[in-house]
Amino acid sequence: LALTLSLSACSGGRAGTSAGGTAAAGSNKGALIGVAMPTKVSERWIKDGNAVKSDLVKKGYKVDLEYADNKIPTQAQQVSNMITKGAKVLIIASIDGGSLSDQLDAAAKAGIKVISYDRLLTGDKNVDYYVSFDNYKVGVDQANSLLTGMGVIDSSGKATGAKKGLNIELFAGSPDDNNATFFFNGAMATLKPYIDDGTLIVASGQTGFTQAATLQWDPATAKARMQNLIAKSYSGGAELSGVLSPYDGMSIGIISALQGAGYGTASKPLPTITGQDAEAASVKSIIAGQQYSTIYKDTRKLATESVTMADDLLNGKTPTVNDTKSYNNKVKVVPTFLFQPTVVTKDNYKSVLIDSGYYTEADLK
Ligand code: BGC
Repeated sequence: LALTLSLSACSGGRAGTSAGGTAAAGSNKGALIGVAMPTKVSERWIKDGNAVKSDLVKKGYKVDLEYADNKIPTQAQQVSNMITKGAKVLIIASIDGGSLSDQLDAAAKAGIKVISYDRLLTGDKNVDYYVSFDNYKVGVDQANSLLTGMGVIDSSGKATGAKKGLNIELFAGSPDDNNATFFFNGAMATLKPYIDDGTLIVASGQTGFTQAATLQWDPATAKARMQNLIAKSYSGGAELSGVLSPYDGMSIGIISALQGAGYGTASKPLPTITGQDAEAASVKSIIAGQQYSTIYKDTRKLATESVTMADDLLNGKTPTVNDTKSYNNKVKVVPTFLFQPTVVTKDNYKSVLIDSGYYTEADLK
């Protein structure tokens, strides 16, 4: 009798362990990994999805890669389906970072690990790791390139003192994306001394994040706001010297509004306009002298890092992180691996984007 009892206790214990998610070594070979991406409207997320998928396949995993067409309920449903299908790890680039709590809780219950990809998942403790670029630094870099493009600072970052009273306008990203405030805060901290000393003037007076925010990073929304700003503050002939734009797709909308109002000629040149993601259309715009700069964030690095994290988690290793303080998701600080962004202008796009193999010459023709 004693023998029977101890045997059944033992097998009961095992069953409990595997239900709790710490599956025996080796059993995760060929496991399914769910990859949730926000939208195919922006080229960068297509590159991200493809890179994550191919890295996972190389390591022998099965992949469920889904795009949600920027629809929050669609993404929630996709993540729920991944859980039902038995995914062992979820890699999620959210649309609204705070909208997936039900899914994150269900994942934790099923022993599924969650990696927050590029955008932080907020408001829930069941977020295991975060991989992104230094988002505050992105904002600092955007602002510094705006200042360089306008001639306020030189290439070494020193104030030239040559300019006073330049008009600028400010755009921010989507308020439901944690990155948007990091970008804007980094940019505003950098611009503030120049606004305070009168070098820069935000002619519309719209300097707050809420005023500048652009729901879902929508290019058409940015275009419409730029048209309003032109009508409100520049129709009397005031010169517009710079526009802080946080994302290439929005920059395209902003440029389109400006061209529609007659900017882009010798007598009325386009202002200095920033961007982010080094999307092909915007790099072409930079080469053509329209957009001034973008921020390159190598999606291949982000993808590889997220896959390394997933692989580590499934092999009982602790993923490597390099930041354990910056990203508090409102419930906890999420251990993070951060990469550094790179500013791209007409001067360095070849060495940064083509020599690295991110684009071919033909991609940018
Ligand atoms: C990303 C940016 C991107 C933006 C719009 C942000 O979360 O970090 O790279 O430009 O979303 O897609």
